[in-house]
Amino acid sequence: QEKRETYAKTEKNGRIGGDESRIHVFVRLRPMAKKEKEAGSRCCVKIVNKKDVYLTEFANENDYLRLKRLKGRHFSFDASFPDSTTQHEVYTTTTAELVEEVLQGRNGSVFCYGATGAGKTYTMLGTLENPGVMVLAIKDLFTSIRQRSFDGNHVVQLSYLEVYNESVRDLLSPGRPLVLREDKQGIVAAGITQYRAYSTDEVMALLQRGNQNRTTEPTRANETSSRSHAILQVVVEYRVKDASMNIFNRVGKLSLIDLAGSERALATDQRTLRSLEGANINRSLLALSSCINALVEGKKHIPYRNSKLTQLLKDSLGGACNTVMIANISPSNLSFGETQNTLHWAYRAKEIRTKTSDTNEEVIEISETGTDQAKLLLELQKEN
Ligand code: ADP
Ligand code: MG
Repeated sequence: QEKRETYAKTEKNGRIGGDESRIHVFVRLRPMAKKEKEAGSRCCVKIVNKKDVYLTEFANENDYLRLKRLKGRHFSFDASFPDSTTQHEVYTTTTAELVEEVLQGRNGSVFCYGATGAGKTYTMLGTLENPGVMVLAIKDLFTSIRQRSFDGNHVVQLSYLEVYNESVRDLLSPGRPLVLREDKQGIVAAGITQYRAYSTDEVMALLQRGNQNRTTEPTRANETSSRSHAILQVVVEYRVKDASMNIFNRVGKLSLIDLAGSERALATDQRTLRSLEGANINRSLLALSSCINALVEGKKHIPYRNSKLTQLLKDSLGGACNTVMIANISPSNLSFGETQNTLHWAYRAKEIRTKTSDTNEEVIEISETGTDQAKLLLELQKEN
């Protein structure tokens, strides 16, 4: 019964095209790891026609037709990336548009989620040779800004932070936990380093250094923590003067998020979520699940306040923003259960509708006299 319902939903969603106002959901399959091969694992995932994922416990098959005859599950997404997909293709398909829209003053966020080892950090940060979404997005942003430099002033500020055990830390300048405060731009971590960056290499170095500051679990000494969320926030502020000398201030924020490992913490229904509350499970990830459920169900009240992660992402989930989810999965049958959970959660997220509305653009002042204009211009020059 449950199975059929799921299947129907998939089909329905697969046919919704060109709807700009929902969360876009992608799946990325990583190559089989050496360790997995050595453990004798078989491949249980097959990506067909660029959108569909087939998951079957028995798939050791390259032959898609044979695979279909096996009992498997079919999921459809905005795009599904096979293990041969390059970092660049992933970036272009999932995030490039969001970067353009951030320049127009529309907030956006890109989440990577999936079990530990599924490829989240590789997708987000990548390596020096194969930089990931975070780095490619910033590179693209700088290129676009350079092309537009004739018509206004852009200021780009980066901050990189971690949520671990419900405490927020600055990854660019580690120290004591930061307090979250609400201000005009939404919830911000008070005192976080705002880094002004100018080149891509600089950003890669910065992020790699930041990642080394991520909390590692004492029990898994040489592994990046599976319970820490890393959030890169890029704020682009743009100021321009129109023909009648009004000054416009436009701010767009892009959040790129490498979530904690989702094992055991993904749930698509409220009952399971509630039963997990008591257990020692990542609270921020649970809260994110709850917010997604509430958004999917069109609830008025979205429980953003339940965790640090959801507070920080309040203005980047639902509402007037672009949201992209990238679900990372392993091909190995040893991860079958986790992969299944991840895929379930992923197309649950696809049902969130966000309302399309204006950008974060405001007239900050309408100057009437020449002296006022001069004063404003001076202020702008000072600030930039
Ligand atoms: P996670 O952050 O989800 O725990 P990682 O990104 O650290 O997982 O990936 C686990 C391992 O698999 C790493 O060694 C990483 O380099 C490798 N890996 C992940 N995705 C890919 C990919 N698409 N291509 C090549 N190697 C990958
Ligand atoms: Mg990781």
